[in-house]
Amino acid sequence: MMTTEGLILKEQSVGESDKIVTVLTKTHGVIRCFSRRAKKLSSAVSSACQMMTYSRLDIYEGRDKYIINNAQVIKSFFEAFADLDRLSLGYYICETAIKMIPENMPSEDYLQLVLNCLYAISVKTKPLYQIKAVYELRMMLLSGVCPNILFCSECGAYESDNGQMYFDPYENAMYCPHCCFRTGNAPKCLAVSMGCITAVRFCMTAEPKKILSFTLSPASMQDMEKFCERFFLAQNDFYCPTLDFYKSVKELN
Ligand SMILES: [Zn+2]
Repeated sequence: MMTTEGLILKEQSVGESDKIVTVLTKTHGVIRCFSRRAKKLSSAVSSACQMMTYSRLDIYEGRDKYIINNAQVIKSFFEAFADLDRLSLGYYICETAIKMIPENMPSEDYLQLVLNCLYAISVKTKPLYQIKAVYELRMMLLSGVCPNILFCSECGAYESDNGQMYFDPYENAMYCPHCCFRTGNAPKCLAVSMGCITAVRFCMTAEPKKILSFTLSPASMQDMEKFCERFFLAQNDFYCPTLDFYKSVKELN
């Protein structure tokens, strides 16, 4: 038996009253747990096993599966996400966390990042697109992939005269304008402003609690949004239905 804190990333019904939940735990990474009677409203564990709920869990390790014996809510984010735009970003974070976080590995850093982002979404002190960009970037860092945005990968220039650099999200390489066009890499590259690059550099080195503590001009923020999303998708090579959902909700607003 183990007691750990965990965030419920996904829930699936099994039969009339049972559930299988996918949990991001502090001690064991992402694991799937069986939860008996979790769907019954009278059950004490019911609300603690809902998606986007952070709970204290007593988990029994069976021969081939984990079973939740008891659970208590620490904080429910699901209820805080009253509007569709917040909910859609919450879904995206949960889906990508399942794809990226390893199983059966201590995952305190990942858990802290996901909780920080969900908390920021719930209080909405920063725009959702900023939270999304920072989440994508920090997830990449935790998984060991760092964007190469310190200098031009051809000539070593730290910045350019016109304030614009170019980034290839697949090759993970940055170019100054001169090298970008000279090498013929322009069609694959994303134009990024120095404001965006400075913010990305800040985010890469900031303490976990400070990752959202920056403000950008709308144009640079748009660059950063694109930069983080393209880098995240190109390097992971996965398709996320929840990202389409997030974008369709964003267009409505
Ligand atoms: Zn260059």
